[in-house]
Amino acid sequence: MRAAVLHEIGQDKLEVLDDVEAVGFGPGKVKIRVRATGLCHSDVSAMNGVLPQPAPFIPGHEGAGEILDVGDGVTNVKPGDRVLVCWLPACGACPACKRGQTQLCLAGFMNAGTPNFKRPGGDVFGFAGTGTFTEEVVVDAGCAVPIPDDVPFDIAALIGCGVTTGLGAAINTADVAAGSSVAVIGCGGVGISAIQGARLKGAAQIVAVDPVASRREAALRFGATEAVAPDALGDAKQRITAGEGFDYVFEVVGKSATARTAYETTRRGGTLCIVGAGALDDFLQLNMFELFFDEKKILPSMYGGGDVLTSYERAIALWRAGRIDLESLITHRVQLAEINEALDQMRSGTALRTCIEI
Ligand SMILES: [Zn+2]
Ligand SMILES: [Zn+2]
Repeated sequence: MRAAVLHEIGQDKLEVLDDVEAVGFGPGKVKIRVRATGLCHSDVSAMNGVLPQPAPFIPGHEGAGEILDVGDGVTNVKPGDRVLVCWLPACGACPACKRGQTQLCLAGFMNAGTPNFKRPGGDVFGFAGTGTFTEEVVVDAGCAVPIPDDVPFDIAALIGCGVTTGLGAAINTADVAAGSSVAVIGCGGVGISAIQGARLKGAAQIVAVDPVASRREAALRFGATEAVAPDALGDAKQRITAGEGFDYVFEVVGKSATARTAYETTRRGGTLCIVGAGALDDFLQLNMFELFFDEKKILPSMYGGGDVLTSYERAIALWRAGRIDLESLITHRVQLAEINEALDQMRSGTALRTCIEI
């Protein structure tokens, strides 16, 4: 079957090959025919080595499709079911799952060192234990989450990562208060979803911050009350908060430099929510005096910061009710053979989300 493979970490192009096979099918596993997958920034971060990932590998973790086959003991889905791919399946038994924090379950990572695919040349890994830039993928049954018939595959794919991450940061983690002031630094698919979450929660001011003009324009359509380039953030803080800083600042880039800016842009006693996925060797520096004296709450948010299945259901309910716009998040569509165009669109910042139809 066809799949887009990265041969070595650090390469910037994927090769679409037709000699790839999904492996590992058996008890507790399901085989999915992928129909749509989004290109998430984390895929690029795994390609360039910012996020740890063995190679060669197939990127993609934001996908949806149909169940082709189920292994022994699988009861949650059957062949023909429409599902989205959850890259962080909950085991249901660990302390985090028992607390309802399934976003912190580590069970899914136990398979991270096991290849999901093979080619005549050898083993191929799947990013985050999935790898959806392919026609078929074998994953744990817990990674296959049934979706209602009225949810198209492309929308379901987005809910599988970016939308859940951004919405959840605003709703679950930061729990934005009505009437508050918000700044969102980084306005790709996740940042826009955080903006939609902040709007739903009743934020009075939502300032979108991004260097790319088209993203700033998009942010205004999704509920930002103002959109500025990074070098104008200081001015916006002065104007909107009289210099005090925003009640909530979301860092959706995943870099210490923007996290530091976000910290300084948060008011004393306010909340800095870290949403971006950054590197192991990128350190955020805070001094002990400011940490204590300014009482800013630093709240990291992983995959929406709450029970993952509940987050999916909420995103679907909000989308169905017209309270969030997910269709407009998909600014570009490509076929699998054009996957490198999707990468270019992401790197240039022109895409909020590129949907790859498979
Ligand atoms: Zn993602
Ligand atoms: Zn668990």
